[in-house]
Order: sequence, then structure tokens, then C-alpha cells
Amino acid sequence: MKAIVFYQHGPLDVLQLADLPTPPVGPSDVLIDVKAAALNRLDLWVREGWPGLKLKLPHISGSDAAGVVAAVGEAVTEFKPGQRVTVNPTLSCGECEYCFRGEDQMCLKHSLLGEFTSGTYAEQIVVPARNVVALPDDTSFEEAAAANLIMVTAWHSLIRRGQLRAGETVLVVGAGGGVNIASIQIAKLAGARVLVVASNAPKAEKARALGADVVLDRSKDTDWSRAVFSLTNRRGVDVVVDNVGAATWLSSIRALARGGRMLVVGNTSGPKFEMDSRFMFAKHISIVGSTMGSHQDYRAVMNLVFQRKIKSVVDRVLPLSEAREAQRILQEGDVFGKVVLKP
Ligand code: ZN
Repeated sequence: MKAIVFYQHGPLDVLQLADLPTPPVGPSDVLIDVKAAALNRLDLWVREGWPGLKLKLPHISGSDAAGVVAAVGEAVTEFKPGQRVTVNPTLSCGECEYCFRGEDQMCLKHSLLGEFTSGTYAEQIVVPARNVVALPDDTSFEEAAAANLIMVTAWHSLIRRGQLRAGETVLVVGAGGGVNIASIQIAKLAGARVLVVASNAPKAEKARALGADVVLDRSKDTDWSRAVFSLTNRRGVDVVVDNVGAATWLSSIRALARGGRMLVVGNTSGPKFEMDSRFMFAKHISIVGSTMGSHQDYRAVMNLVFQRKIKSVVDRVLPLSEAREAQRILQEGDVFGKVVLKP
């Protein structure tokens, strides 16, 4: 099978097209012909590598995939060849304390497709059957691949960890990234008022189209936490979704109301920042971290995608062979929604 691999960590040009053997199918596994694979920022970080990261090389990146079942292991009864499916990227053991609790995302052997294991930039992948969900005919492979990781991440963070309730106000810092696109829509569906900080006018317009109630364009108004304050009658918001990190942390904390929750699932501008603890105790603020979600979360949010209550947003689709160009586009950051590869 054809796949995009790298033999060493480094810049974009370490990515190359290779011919690899079809991966072996274990008794509880499903072999899938990949029809669409979506990119995530994680793919760029894995390619570049970080201290302590030891991957079996060559490595195939990619956490998101949808496709058609090619073969199943002998213990798999739920799926058969030819069936359209999509894939939950959270890999868990199914046997530890956390898996028994239904908290697969906290599994002691938790992993993510394409991070420490072989990923989806390939013509075929093998995944455990418990990660596979049937894909309705009216949801395209591109829509499903573009939804998998971001939707389960945003759902788990906002609904399960953040306990978002109807009538609350949510601020989403950023508009174009996948988790933000998912968060805007999930928060609206949950009955919240949604404020968004967008980096420019075109992204602001698209955030409005997704249902945001108020969009602040930070290219025009850099002091957006003050604007949030006045838009909420000097109260602040109940929940902030901040996956930017270092560059926005202080403004996000300021934008919270008393008793507010700060939801963190990532840090595109850097992981380390200073924090004045007086804000935390004086305003009774909770900082709530999470990553990915359980198998149940995945099924719940994907059903909303299948019912078109939440839209998958695809920025563009490129052939698998152009993975390098696709990662360059994501790296430059001028995207709204997902970049998708088609084998
Ligand atoms: Zn486990």
C-alpha cells in the first residue's frame, strides 16, 4: 500500500511517499481502505519531534480517517467487508481501571492514532473494532474524517468536563481551528450564548455563519477581554475555550465571570505562561484540562454530525501524494476548517 512516511524528524521535506506492506490484522481488528484522512496540528508536531519522543521509523502520521472495511479479524462480528465506516482516533486498552469506568481517554495505555502508532496518511489502516463506527450513506468520507478528532475533543471538554448548561455564556478564543469550529457549534446546540474572538474579518464572518452570537475581530480590537466584559454587562463569561495558550491566557482569565471554568485542550501558541493565583481564588475559577474523549463521547457527538446538527467544515481536499503541501497549508495557518487528504 502507498503511504506518506518520514524516516527522520524534521521540516516538511522529510515527508515522502513510500510503498509499505499491508499491516497485519489481529483477531479483534478491522482493516480499512482509507477514503479520506484529515490533518491535525499534532501531525506537524509529531513530524518535527520533541525531546523524548521515540517512534518506530518510518512513521505514518494522521489521526483522522474514514473509509471502507476491507477485512475483519476472526473475532469481529459487527462489521463486514464493503461497509462504510469512520474511526475514533482514541486508542485504549479496554482493561484498565479507567477503561472500566468508561473513561477511555484516561486509559493507562492511552494512545492516539498517528501519534505513537501508525496513522492514517495511508491507503490502508488497521484499528481495533471498538474504534470503528458505521458511517451513514449521506455523510461523506471527507466530512467524517474532518470531524472525528475535533468533535470528540470539543464534546468531552465542553459537555463532560466543562458541564456546560443551557443559558450560560461561552467565549471561544479563535475561529478557524478545528476544535474551535466544533466548540462554537456544540455550545450553540447546548443552548449557550457564544462569543468568539476571530483573527480577521473573513474568519469572523465564517464564525457567524456557524452560529456564533457575537464575534470580536482582534485585528480591529486587540483588547478583546475588555470588550467581552462590556458585552456581558460587566459580568464576564461562564466558560472560556482557550487552546491558544501563552498568547491569550491572561486575557482569557480576565474574561471569566466569578465561578467560571477555563477549558484547555491544547496550546497552539506555546505551553508555558505565568498565572496570578489571586485571579483563581478571588474569582473562584476552575481550570479544566482534558484531551480526546471516551468511546461514548465519540458516538454521541458523531451522531449529531450524522444528523447534521453539527457541521463538519472542510477547507480543502488534496490527493494523498500532496501531504507535504497539505501540511504546509496547515502550518501557515490560513485555513478555516480541515485540510483533507484522499488516497
Ligand atoms: Zn485502559
